[in-house]
Amino acid sequence: MAKFFISYGYNLITFFIISHLMSILGNLNPWNPSIPFEILSLNISSKLSINSHAIKESSKDFGKIIQEILPAAVLYPSCVNDIIDLIQFSYGLSIPFHVAAKGHGHSIRGQAMAKNGVIVEMNSLNNNNNNENCGVRISWDSNLGFYADVGGEQLWIDVLTSTLEYGLAPVSWTDYLYLTVGGTLSNAGISGQNFLHGPQISNVHEMDVITGKGELVTCSKDMNSELFFGVLGGLGQFGIITRARIVLDKAPTRVSMIVFD
Ligand SMILES: Cc1cc2nc3c(=O)[nH]c(=O)nc-3n(C[C@H](O)[C@H](O)[C@H](O)COP(=O)(O)OP(=O)(O)OC[C@H]3O[C@@H](n4cnc5c(N)ncnc54)[C@H](O)[C@@H]3O)c2cc1C
Repeated sequence: MAKFFISYGYNLITFFIISHLMSILGNLNPWNPSIPFEILSLNISSKLSINSHAIKESSKDFGKIIQEILPAAVLYPSCVNDIIDLIQFSYGLSIPFHVAAKGHGHSIRGQAMAKNGVIVEMNSLNNNNNNENCGVRISWDSNLGFYADVGGEQLWIDVLTSTLEYGLAPVSWTDYLYLTVGGTLSNAGISGQNFLHGPQISNVHEMDVITGKGELVTCSKDMNSELFFGVLGGLGQFGIITRARIVLDKAPTRVSMIVFD
């Protein structure tokens, strides 16, 4: 009798393990030949997903106009080096694959998509518990005044919340704040403050950018200026912004609201 229960229990466990594995495999897309298998030998292999749900989610944006532009895989980086490894790997191939950074996916015409390539889910840099990534760091300098170093993956609402703790705020915002720093600096960053300070891209001191070769380069209007001005408003075509130094000023204590009928 005891033998029966042991073998019954053993079969039950085996059944659960096999059905669990089958459900995982059932969700996997077939390997896309545009990405060589050798990518699996890199340290980032455990952060790459070919799960069909992940691929579908990463290929959606706010506009829902462009559909079915599917990447081969999605990278969930935990540090900047993960993105560097991915891009260096692609650059080393005779036919590199597309790489696109995805911020908060509020594009409306598929700007953050990469057909048969790899989408980098920038938001996943926030899940690093070691505080290795830039986050939001506020400083003061006699030349620059107050400024914040912010990760490209940060939402403007979080930048504002952090700076307000010091009575400070970016001088140029977006009207809608649930957009990423990298996503709006790749466009322009427009809001009601523009008539006073210009768009967000006019209020950046410097940036760290991963170039198409996979090099991490610091740039400003005086240092690697071609890269700096290419990336600002560059629609994600010239590199991935991993840090931006943003101009801050004293936060206004009052706002006025104008409502049009
Ligand atoms: C509801 C809504 C409100 C909006 N309000 C405003 C507003 O007030 N002001 C305004 O200016 N715009 C506004 N927009 C437009 C929005 O700013 C842009 O679409 C912006 O690019 C979206 O940012 P995101 O973080 O969602 O970027 P995504 O849509 O994810 O990406 C946009 C582009 O930036 C690239 N990108 C993303 N992250 C990086 C990075 N770290 N480095 C380099 N490239 C990167 C992507 O590859 C893509 O090309 C709004 C859009 C919506 C849908």
